[in-house]
Amino acid sequence: MRYRTTISTVRKVFVYGTLMTLWTLSAQSLTSRLNPLEKVTHSAADIADETVLQRTLYAPLRPDDLAAEQCEQMVEAAQRRVARIEEKITEIKPLIEQGIFARNEIKPLEEELDLRKRTLDLAASRSKFIRELADMAKLEASAEQYQMDTGIKPVQERFDGNGQFTTPMLKNVILAYEKQFAKAMPISANGETPFHKSMGFDHRGRIDVALSPDQPEGVWLRQFLEKEQIPYYAFRGAVVGRASAAHIHIGPPSMRLRVAD
Ligand SMILES: [Zn+2]
Repeated sequence: MRYRTTISTVRKVFVYGTLMTLWTLSAQSLTSRLNPLEKVTHSAADIADETVLQRTLYAPLRPDDLAAEQCEQMVEAAQRRVARIEEKITEIKPLIEQGIFARNEIKPLEEELDLRKRTLDLAASRSKFIRELADMAKLEASAEQYQMDTGIKPVQERFDGNGQFTTPMLKNVILAYEKQFAKAMPISANGETPFHKSMGFDHRGRIDVALSPDQPEGVWLRQFLEKEQIPYYAFRGAVVGRASAAHIHIGPPSMRLRVAD
């Protein structure tokens, strides 16, 4: 009985060993059979960058749920994905000249490069948009420190109206804007955002519209708000080092969040 068991164990070990060897061999030959594009897309670094994009660029998040550092990671991952294909193309080109690779081997790489460049553009514009949202929130937070200049247009303009901004009022503004311009009003922050919160501001019940107060849409919007007695802040100033964070904040000024409860 003991003898039989040993035989059966030896047989099992042998079968297992053989299977593992076959599996390893086939995996190796599979790797060597990968075409140049697959060699890039099957690499651990490329898969890691793809994961970063899935978590950021393709994630079902509101844009302002992405923190600034995640934006950087997103753009960097997209840049590396472009560079990796470019490197592969540079590597393959002389081999095609030498006849080691067929000329049509480069086509899938070029198509992939095109796709990855478009993804990079998308990531860059998403990142820019998110930075603008953060800048608008910064501008609101620093507005208290701004001093009104005489002569030049002030950095911010305040209209108190009746001091109220309710949901029906918001709907009314949105509908009137769409009727006037036949396009959606560019709301950049609706209620509280992580950016306002991180700066200690309660932005609930307030919205930001990504319009300069002096562009035609901004001028129209301010006039409409004044006619409706809806409070707003018009921000013209830019955050130092950035192009512009101009916007119109509708609703009463943001309240400072209580430091602790
Ligand atoms: Zn605001």
